[in-house]
Amino acid sequence: MKRTAEVVIIGGGCLGTSTAYHLAKLGLTNVVLVERDHMLGTGSTGRNAGGVRHQFSSEANIRLSIESISLLERFQEEVGYEIDFHQDGYLFLLSTQDAKRAFHSNVQLQRGLGVEVSELSPEEAAKLAPGLSVEGVIGATFCARDGIADPNGVTMGFAKAAQSAGVEINRDTEVTGIKIEAGKVSAVETNHGEISTRTVVNAAGPYARNIGFLAGLDIPVLPYRRHIFITKPLAPPDAPSSRIMVIDFETTFYFHREGAGILFGMSDPDEASTFDISVNWEFLERLIPIASRRLPALGDSAIAHSWAGLYEVTPDATPIIGRAPELEGFYMINGFSGHGFQHSPAAGRLLADLIVKSETPDFDLRPFAYERFSTGAIEPEKAVV
Ligand SMILES: Cc1cc2nc3c(=O)[nH]c(=O)nc-3n(C[C@H](O)[C@H](O)[C@H](O)COP(=O)(O)OP(=O)(O)OC[C@H]3O[C@@H](n4cnc5c(N)ncnc54)[C@H](O)[C@@H]3O)c2cc1C
Repeated sequence: MKRTAEVVIIGGGCLGTSTAYHLAKLGLTNVVLVERDHMLGTGSTGRNAGGVRHQFSSEANIRLSIESISLLERFQEEVGYEIDFHQDGYLFLLSTQDAKRAFHSNVQLQRGLGVEVSELSPEEAAKLAPGLSVEGVIGATFCARDGIADPNGVTMGFAKAAQSAGVEINRDTEVTGIKIEAGKVSAVETNHGEISTRTVVNAAGPYARNIGFLAGLDIPVLPYRRHIFITKPLAPPDAPSSRIMVIDFETTFYFHREGAGILFGMSDPDEASTFDISVNWEFLERLIPIASRRLPALGDSAIAHSWAGLYEVTPDATPIIGRAPELEGFYMINGFSGHGFQHSPAAGRLLADLIVKSETPDFDLRPFAYERFSTGAIEPEKAVV
């Protein structure tokens, strides 16, 4: 392992590897990425649903999506890795007048930024997804360029391209301390020794706050458990054959095709922050009546696979991308609140620009600034699942 580096990245998920790739693309290759697990992408990145969408409520998040989806569309030619990207669209189902109004204004904003999104009647929505029940639905929105991609492919693509350019990746390497001298980062301590550096990137996903504590910072990112269940084979007319992502906004229940079965999940509004990633089968019992109201076939289907993982959530469901003003050399790419996979291409590019060029003239990073939590300049993301 190198003993000095210009940049040390903590965390080998989609966000750490994207940052490494984009630093290397800018010519900064004296970079070490450290990952405590034996493999890359086994944290939240390896446990997510692979969903990618333009349909957010805040302009900043929509802009992240536009840039990210554009890179995902040309990922194979540009980064050199297959990511199984299917753009079969995202369908949001709306059951209250408040949600319908809010999504109407989201659609105006999305269209103003050049994204094609339609507002649909419940009957039009039902036609897009065989097996779907739209009972109680009063409206819907659909964007055909939204879709599903492979998180492992994206992470390995970024990692391999970064390595080929000269970035060093050390697995089984846990960061245990961050050394500070005169208010500046001076080294990162690991279980395999120390790396001198002036720049550290916190890309530790749900463990971002723990890394912050090592540097004397309290980063407002909390872990929340989210479950995924995959059924045994289900086909039309009981379920869509396409990979359309359907989201019941009121309950946050969502599903999409995964191989021969259907992948589904929902947030648990009653669960407090936790690092526990064991599967809570009692939650499935509460989920099934809600799920089968929208996709009745789920009421009788058997579960083939299940797992849980962690969202890394900020108070305004918007990520932190940028530096810590009180500690020179400490950068964060944290708190994506359930959207980190899809935003990893743009977020890594922006952080790399900030590190190398000290600015991002094409992108206003203020909505992502760490200091927004103390100044109160926050615009919460409302299209949260
Ligand atoms: C069930 C579920 C479904 C989701 N669905 C979607 C979706 O459809 N679309 C979407 O965009 N996002 C989704 N997400 C969110 C997405 O998975 C995360 O936002 C994203 O993976 C975060 O990436 P990361 O690289 O920051 O974190 P991680 O992938 O967790 O990577 C952080 C890495 O840091 C390492 N690390 C931590 N501490 C240390 C240390 N001290 N030293 C060294 N290494 C350390 C960890 O081992 C880990 O590998 C979902 C998440 C879950 C749980």
